[in-house]
Amino acid sequence: MNIPQTSFPRVIIIGGGFAGLAVARALENQELQVVLIDKHNYHTFQPLLYQVATGGLEPDSIAFPLRKRFNDVENFFFRLAKVTQIHAEKNYIETTIGNLEYDELVIATGSITNFFGNTNIQKNAMEMKSVPQALNIRSLVLENFEEALLATDLEKRRELMNFVIVGGGPTGVELAGALAEMKKGILPKDYPDLDIRQMKINLIQSSGELLKGMSNKASEKAEDFLIKLGVDVWKDLRVLDYDGETVTTNGEDHFKAQTVIWAAGVKGAAINGLNQECVVERANRFKVNEYNKVIGYDNIYAIGDVACMETKGYKRGHPMMAQPAIQQGRLLGKNILAKLKSKKQKSFVYNDKGSMATIGRNKAVVDLASWKFQGVFAWFIWMFVHLFSLIGFRNKAVVFMNWVYNYVRFDRETRLIIRPYKKKNKYSFKEQENGNY
Ligand SMILES: Cc1cc2nc3c(=O)[nH]c(=O)nc-3n(C[C@H](O)[C@H](O)[C@H](O)COP(=O)(O)OP(=O)(O)OC[C@H]3O[C@@H](n4cnc5c(N)ncnc54)[C@H](O)[C@@H]3O)c2cc1C
Repeated sequence: MNIPQTSFPRVIIIGGGFAGLAVARALENQELQVVLIDKHNYHTFQPLLYQVATGGLEPDSIAFPLRKRFNDVENFFFRLAKVTQIHAEKNYIETTIGNLEYDELVIATGSITNFFGNTNIQKNAMEMKSVPQALNIRSLVLENFEEALLATDLEKRRELMNFVIVGGGPTGVELAGALAEMKKGILPKDYPDLDIRQMKINLIQSSGELLKGMSNKASEKAEDFLIKLGVDVWKDLRVLDYDGETVTTNGEDHFKAQTVIWAAGVKGAAINGLNQECVVERANRFKVNEYNKVIGYDNIYAIGDVACMETKGYKRGHPMMAQPAIQQGRLLGKNILAKLKSKKQKSFVYNDKGSMATIGRNKAVVDLASWKFQGVFAWFIWMFVHLFSLIGFRNKAVVFMNWVYNYVRFDRETRLIIRPYKKKNKYSFKEQENGNY
């Protein structure tokens, strides 16, 4: 892997997401060698993927090159590779570009879509965990309209214009809202010879409320916003299968649709090699103690989505969100330094800064510890927080410009089919299963 041997201890970080970046930053310019390995050469700002999928933002404005972030850091090395196996007993990892030994290993691989074992849905539905996947959705949505325009069979046209989003969490809600805005402001102009009123956006949620985990008020208001935007919200309805044409459910309603977007769950992107006892089976996350140390290991840590720290307040681990990942990464960096200097380490306590979701133009819901609010002000807060959380001045500036432009012009200019989406030919199901995309 062409990493020099030094007398400094080597810390390998697997994954340059929110958690991996936070720990790498905390270890900058210390007496350590830090090796960051990621299967992408960029960090993805996942909360804005839905805007890429709906033509609101260019993909490169929510991605940041990992090498650039550490250009001036002397003790830092980046390698573009997928880590395939951990050999804990011998302190080395196996990757697609070779093996590498470590003194301390940090697993920050995030999560992958959870299809709960339904391979039919996995094969036929779209997912949105990465930039390529968001671009796939963008292409498919636009290709559907091009095809609908030519369809002579009215049933087929309806299927092409019928969109089903499974999962009423923030991803599903935000995507449904963005598609509804496209329906309202953009598609009628782009396709004047198509009756866009036939477009249907169905948001299906298995429980009785949207945005589970947020306040009742946020959940009710989000539903209200979506309905006003023309989204059909289906609650207490569980999707059982999708064969590429029909979505079957546990209720009487079934949906004929060419596009199904699965936003109904994620599971940890655990890597093989560690004892099975340290993996929480239902969530595929590594069990960690209060220092993010994987149970049963002395020099292996897991942080972010892939880590499950069971505490009094979070019996099933912390929420799989950016803030726990960042906070765990920061503290782990400090703790690794403390360990190497034989100093006392600090246990992790999550500082919940609240949660938010946007439903569309001027519409968002925000839950803070002491204040819950919805509407235009919440939308400005949502924009501000997301803008300032982006990495890199260029990304912040480009996103800001795009948002201003889109707001003033009621537009989403990146509705481009750059790379046409043909699911079965695009990449093999095996690769999709392995979470390579
Ligand atoms: C569509 C969407 C919207 C979201 N919206 C919000 C939101 O509004 N607010 C919020 O707080 N959270 C949101 N989240 C969740 C949030 O993005 C995650 O909780 C957060 O990214 C977790 O950080 P992480 O560092 O654990 O993992 P990630 O950010 O996912 O990073 C994992 C990294 O590991 C790399 N990797 C994985 N496996 C390997 C391997 N085997 N070898 C090498 N590299 C590997 C990946 O390429 C990736 O770069 C959203 C997520 C999605 C998908």
